[in-house]
Amino acid sequence: MDLSRYSRQMLFEPIGDDGQRQLSHTTALVVGAGALGTVICNQLVRAGIGKLRLIDRDYVEMSNLQRQMLFDEEDVKHFLPKAIAAKNKLEKMNSQVTIEAIVGNVSVENIDHLIKDTDVVLDGTDNFSTRYLLNDACFKYQIPYSYGGVVSSRGMTAFFIPGKTPCLRCITKEGEGSGQTCDTVGVISPAVDMVSSFQVTETLKYLTGNQHALRHTLKTFDVWHNRHYDVKLAESDPNCPVCRQNSFPALQKSAENEETVLCGRDTVQIHRKSDINLEEWENKLAKIANIKRTPFLLKASIREGTHFVMFKDGRVLVQGTEDPVEARTLYDRYIGS
Ligand SMILES: [Zn+2]
Repeated sequence: MDLSRYSRQMLFEPIGDDGQRQLSHTTALVVGAGALGTVICNQLVRAGIGKLRLIDRDYVEMSNLQRQMLFDEEDVKHFLPKAIAAKNKLEKMNSQVTIEAIVGNVSVENIDHLIKDTDVVLDGTDNFSTRYLLNDACFKYQIPYSYGGVVSSRGMTAFFIPGKTPCLRCITKEGEGSGQTCDTVGVISPAVDMVSSFQVTETLKYLTGNQHALRHTLKTFDVWHNRHYDVKLAESDPNCPVCRQNSFPALQKSAENEETVLCGRDTVQIHRKSDINLEEWENKLAKIANIKRTPFLLKASIREGTHFVMFKDGRVLVQGTEDPVEARTLYDRYIGS
């Protein structure tokens, strides 16, 4: 493989020719193609990772463009799923990298398959239930987990290595989130870029044979209010099920509830048991709804502010409510089981 395009990175001594070659034989799983995920993918693909597997369940909206750097107004116009829009851009950036894009949910059912054959997992999610799932799967399969979170002007990041560092469960407690999300208190793009840059930097160290350079801290910062902290990742929590008992709670749960509230987005996701034929549903709903269909999804507006977005993999987003019961009622009324 011609590596000359990476000349400036190979001139950087810790990476060099050897590190670049090593990197080109590695695979990363990026979960989420939102703010963090798009910056992560951009950097990994430009840096010359071998293969990128990317999964995201959402589609591009105008309010994403302020910080989700792989998307543009054309993607919004075409209701492109984020995974597909990201793949389109990434392939133009670097045709040497194999990009596998998946439109879907990360769940107990598919995490084994997604994580298989990957060298590292990078977190571009926005919720702790998915993060615990990634954490537990990574520790079970002994794969490093590059964690990142961002809200407002604050960021948090750590690089967890099974057998070497504590895990996410050791430093956060389930259900202890601040309750603030990007959808309620907003987020500025520089904070996103910083967190994802730290996530990718540790990943590059790990994948290019520079493990001695890893930071081994939980880094938190507020880029607006000029605060930075590093807390050493030392001992694992004596009560941590993952690190101390070799048990993985997130992997043991049976399938999630069918309804998932997408935090702060005025959206409830309902997961059907079967695939969705978009053309069929376009015909069924045409009389009662304003329909837009793309190769990937169907958006049906049944009244001002209330939409269904249906994906081929069986997911239906009910937009215009955060109440699972109301969402289920709308779903049953117009779509049914
Ligand atoms: Zn732990």
